[in-house]
Amino acid sequence: MKIAILGAGAMGCLYGGTLAEAGHEVVLIDVWKEHVEALNTSGLQIEEPDRIRRIENIRAVTHPSETGAVELVIVFVKATLTEQAAREAFCLVGEETMVLTLQNGLGNVEKLNSVMGLSHVIAGTTGHGSTLLGPGRIRHAGTGETVIGEQSGGRSERIAALASTFNHAGIATKISENVMGLIWTKLIVNVGINALTAVTGMRNGQLVDYPETESLMRAAIDEACAVARSKGICFEVADPFEHTRNIAKKTAENRSSMLQDVMAKRRTEISVINGAIVELGEKLGIAVPVNAVLTKLITVREKTYNLSDGAA
Ligand code: NAD
Repeated sequence: MKIAILGAGAMGCLYGGTLAEAGHEVVLIDVWKEHVEALNTSGLQIEEPDRIRRIENIRAVTHPSETGAVELVIVFVKATLTEQAAREAFCLVGEETMVLTLQNGLGNVEKLNSVMGLSHVIAGTTGHGSTLLGPGRIRHAGTGETVIGEQSGGRSERIAALASTFNHAGIATKISENVMGLIWTKLIVNVGINALTAVTGMRNGQLVDYPETESLMRAAIDEACAVARSKGICFEVADPFEHTRNIAKKTAENRSSMLQDVMAKRRTEISVINGAIVELGEKLGIAVPVNAVLTKLITVREKTYNLSDGAA
């Protein structure tokens, strides 16, 4: 299959590399020149707990215009950049092209629909974890399931074929007939864990060790669930708070992506996670004070990255 990865960072390289290893024709597209050069000269290196995978048969480019239409585009830019990246990548889409988002946050599907065309866009979530170590190098930090689905529900031929392609490549994949519910279920986990860990500096598991952070987690999730319910979203789990609590415990030693972003002084995905709940809550007349505070705290943290530290 001819596949383009739009945004070849931690996750893009993981999926792109694995699909290339399975013999697919993969092109990695990323704006980071040094990374693209390293990929083309030395290949991709994926560090795993028990081995290092080296993938040579992979091409990388800095702009989508350097490649033509493909059968599958996997979008893996940060969710705040989806619309801009999609506009630049319209040339990748032919009549039959599938555009798959496995990103976190809210709004990716809608943005891709408006730029690429609704009929092309399929969505899902990933349970994998990955970290970008440097040009051409990632660490595959955690393994999980990939779940994909059609926006309209149902099991189309193309979604079944894509799940089978992924499974053959070693990416364990299931099909969901409730893909928006799936995305919201993942969103709730991010709403409960990401901003709170980024504000406190805690690892995921520590959030549930203290009544203060656990009650804030519950409050942020309750607000998000009220928003979801009023939008008619049907979660994939019975109790979103318990689900999030279990994930925090299972990934106790992990630093969330938002905490990592704040530590590295990078832009976070706050606007499409807690910020999206605030935006929707305000539109729908639902009180979202905890998400509003978390969003403001992270936003001001981003704005002050470049201020030098000094005693107050
Ligand atoms: P990342 O920052 O490692 O990678 C994003 C890449 O996109 C970067 O290399 C960047 O240079 C590139 N980019 C930016 N603008 C671009 C453009 N216009 N065109 C092409 N490339 C561009 O991010 P990531 O950790 O791989 O995360 C990607 C998405 O997956 C996010 O939504 C994230 O929340 C989600 N996700 C990440 C993980 C994880 O463990 N890293 C797990 C699950 C979901």
